[in-house]
Amino acid sequence: MPYTSEDCLFCKIVAGTVPADVVHRDEHVVAFRDINPQAPTHVLVIPRRHVENLGALAEYPEELADVVALGASVAEEAGLEAGFRMVANAGELAGQTVFHAHLHVLGGRRMAWPPG
Ligand code: AMP
Ligand code: ZN
Repeated sequence: MPYTSEDCLFCKIVAGTVPADVVHRDEHVVAFRDINPQAPTHVLVIPRRHVENLGALAEYPEELADVVALGASVAEEAGLEAGFRMVANAGELAGQTVFHAHLHVLGGRRMAWPPG
């Protein structure tokens, strides 16, 4: 699988050809605000590498660790120590709509369980 996919929205955000409210970018990962936020803080953390979902990123453990670590630091930056949620939808039945791995970081309100 090539590092980027031509017709992928999140690859375009990584490349900067589609605008996003980017909160962090470095060598392996990019974090930006979700366009349709489901909580007061809703940030997506993605690897620069194009893979279909977060599980597939396990092939690249350093990049997977960077995604999770950035998720935690985004939550800390946002002052979410009282609680936050990291979510990774995998597959259409789970509600995945963008097939480039991403971790949702949600917080700033009480979360329900089980998720819908
Ligand atoms: P998922 O449904 O888990 O695949 O999550 C995809 C997320 O991407 C959704 O929460 C969308 O609101 C979000 N999204 C889609 N397009 C954009 C965009 N251009 N900028 C930021 N977030 C986006
Ligand atoms: Zn992509």
